[in-house]
Amino acid sequence: MSVRVRFAPSPTGFLHIGGLRTALYNYLFARHNEGTFVLRIEDTDQSRYVEDAEQDIIDSLEWAGIEIDEGPGKGGDFGPYRQSERKDIYHKYAEQLVESGHAYYAFDTVEEIDEMRERLMKSGNPSPKYDSITRQSMKNSLTLSQDEVKKRMDNGDEYVVRLKVPRKETIRFEDEIRGNVSFDTEGLDDQVLLKSDGMPTYHLANVVDDHTMEITHVIRGEEWLPSTPKHMLLYNSFGWEPPKMAHLPLIMSPSGGKLSKRKAESEGIPVNTKDYMAGNYEPDALVNFLAYLGWSPGDDSEIHDMKELCELFTLDRVSKGGAVFNYKKLMWYNENYIRQHSIDELKPRVEALFLGKGYEIPSDDFLTTVIELLQERVSKIDEFVSMGAFFFEAPKAYDENALKKWKDDSSRLILSYKTRIEALSEDDFKAATLKKKLEETIEEHGVGFGKLMMPLRIAISGQGFGPDLFPALELIGKEEVLGRIDSALERL
Ligand code: GLU
Repeated sequence: MSVRVRFAPSPTGFLHIGGLRTALYNYLFARHNEGTFVLRIEDTDQSRYVEDAEQDIIDSLEWAGIEIDEGPGKGGDFGPYRQSERKDIYHKYAEQLVESGHAYYAFDTVEEIDEMRERLMKSGNPSPKYDSITRQSMKNSLTLSQDEVKKRMDNGDEYVVRLKVPRKETIRFEDEIRGNVSFDTEGLDDQVLLKSDGMPTYHLANVVDDHTMEITHVIRGEEWLPSTPKHMLLYNSFGWEPPKMAHLPLIMSPSGGKLSKRKAESEGIPVNTKDYMAGNYEPDALVNFLAYLGWSPGDDSEIHDMKELCELFTLDRVSKGGAVFNYKKLMWYNENYIRQHSIDELKPRVEALFLGKGYEIPSDDFLTTVIELLQERVSKIDEFVSMGAFFFEAPKAYDENALKKWKDDSSRLILSYKTRIEALSEDDFKAATLKKKLEETIEEHGVGFGKLMMPLRIAISGQGFGPDLFPALELIGKEEVLGRIDSALERL
């Protein structure tokens, strides 16, 4: 049987970075096994529905290079792929469970259920449930006569369908990552499967869809582990073979604990995929980083693109323990990927960023040189603009920290350098010559390299760091360089 996996987000908000990792692991597993990657939108909770969330999920996956084989807008033999469009299917299966005696109709109002809870709490039960004991004294199709049930239904009374959870049973299953897992049914409520508005709950819809969509492996976050015994009960009740289960480790914050939205924000970690898109991160770097957040190929290699990750990924190498989100490591990946890109790959993106900031690009060669000079220095693509703006315009201000390096003798040294390079013809205004002139100047004044280099850098770029200065001077051109030196001398 060929592998079929699904990513099944609820469109309740933007795609969280943890969701993207789940999608990625499913995708890698599918590709590794020449299987199918399905996107299923679990939108049965109308109260939490967010209009743009589905599009955000699709855009995020596309940006990350995760290709959907079947899903909304994509089609496939197992659709529809939005749960809200599958209502009839869930109804049919809920009825089937009632008929086979595994589920029942319950007519109790919220007040009646609260009353039952209160009564039991008073008699010493700390967490009363609607379960195998209490169901016997509630208003449902197990306690009411058939006629009464029919009458209520014909009357249009509200009802839910509940799963008849067995009293004391141990549910066992083998998790592909965590090994043997067992749960006691004793603590379980008789789960609501179909709500009074006719919508299925997550549990019913999830199991029915995984079965009818012929999903072979359920790969999802650890937070769903407590739901799995309920799902196993459902599979048993239907008489279906459950898919294989794999629960991924939690993503932890560097300061400990689960990386919640709030925690991430307070630690400066972007939390939604769209923040990474808007923040100009490299998608392949993020993918590589996320792949290693809970998995590794078992050697000390770290850089693998999507294609290689597909070849390498197996579930037995996913770790059980939580994986700490190390932002520095992400930036390390980001830098690496920028270094690996060819100039031609970078050019249109860098160009768009410069144009977006209102800079005019004098020529293609100019842009190429700017990229060449900065590629080894930036860790994010938008730094081409923040670090490279001085190629296009004179600094508007000088960095305060850098100015600490502007010393008493700086003006004198710069002036002496200026006199030397002023004498150069346009054609001689080349990196090597400009460097030679600097060496001559420091020699004459008997000072170290940095003594002149630093003020010169400040005058030209406004910064205390940056790319190799001499090719930068060459690119900026004689007239502009002299102008910047003059204005620095005046202002500083
Ligand atoms: N809709 C659930 C979610 O939002 C799906 C969990 C699962 O994969 O079963 O993550």
